[in-house]
Amino acid sequence: MQFGNNKEWYHNYFIIFLISFSIIASGINGFSHDHEYSHFNHANIDKLISLKSEQESIILPFNTTRIPGSKESIKIQEYITFFFEQLNNNSNGILWVVTRDNFKENGYNFTNLVFSLNYVDKNKNNNKKEFLHMQDYKKEKSLILAAHYDSKIDPPGFIGAVDSALSCSILLYIAYFITNLDTQNDYTHIYENGFVKNLEIIFFDGEEALKKWNDDDSIYGSKHLVSKYPGKYNGKNIELMILLDLLGSSDDEDLSIYSYFANSHIFYERLSTVEKKLFPFGKTKLISDNKSFIWSSKKNTKRPVFVLEDDHIPFYTRGIPILHLIPLPFPKTWHTIDDDFNHVNMTSVKKWCKMLSTFTVEYLHDRLFE
Ligand SMILES: [Zn+2]
Repeated sequence: MQFGNNKEWYHNYFIIFLISFSIIASGINGFSHDHEYSHFNHANIDKLISLKSEQESIILPFNTTRIPGSKESIKIQEYITFFFEQLNNNSNGILWVVTRDNFKENGYNFTNLVFSLNYVDKNKNNNKKEFLHMQDYKKEKSLILAAHYDSKIDPPGFIGAVDSALSCSILLYIAYFITNLDTQNDYTHIYENGFVKNLEIIFFDGEEALKKWNDDDSIYGSKHLVSKYPGKYNGKNIELMILLDLLGSSDDEDLSIYSYFANSHIFYERLSTVEKKLFPFGKTKLISDNKSFIWSSKKNTKRPVFVLEDDHIPFYTRGIPILHLIPLPFPKTWHTIDDDFNHVNMTSVKKWCKMLSTFTVEYLHDRLFE
């Protein structure tokens, strides 16, 4: 960790402190605080989404280069897998099942990590884990949450905090949140019956170009995964893919997340509603229904005016609705050596964690909590 000697980091941290303080202050003044929307428990978020504690932070393990096939990449793969293995030590009957998709291309070894949500019958005392709710793509539609964990080769030492380490940490938080929902409240029935829908969390490798971005030199992982399982990844089986990218930059709150696709707009609105309910007095909005929609131009065309190239493309072309959570314009540090943990907005990252974990639980349970 090199934050201690860095003036800029202190400066950012001071601003974060001020923001936190103003939130606390507004609570003291009698305004409703963030958690009133639901009784979802985010008690550990400050420990997990933190730049301080090496032991507990689910952000700091990503503070490394993650070039495909490198020892640093293998280490982060092990960290992600270990994180889910630890989650499997729960008393809620949640079982995350990992699929590793390894392949070699252009002289590099790539690995996608796919975690699917399953349930075991915690009341049955047998060693053979009995699935209550096996992933069955023929029966039900699924939600995919995804981000890429690889980092750019050039410039040397590029960390890619915003691109897309923070998005990966947000995915880990969502998994943690789902696994540890408080069964003392009204969630017992979720675990008894399983969620209505399925969930897959994907960490893509090889999103970045190895040399220069073009159709053949980019999104290696997502292209490979879809071509390996064409019967699974298509519009018939997947109801929605949420792709997180470039979230959590220090200028995050000045950027706009647009609704890029008409067929996922209903979910965009839903996420906007979640944000407004969670943060009714938020001065800035990460998702907002009053931001203009790229696809609904004057002619009311339902086609996107342009398509941002990213890991969703192979899924999009197979008819899967995409909610692409990527800001425009891109953050200032995008693809520069400054895309490191000195240029992040942890308040914003925590907001994304709360919004997306709430959205996901509501979606999986197929009901809206009030
Ligand atoms: Zn990138």
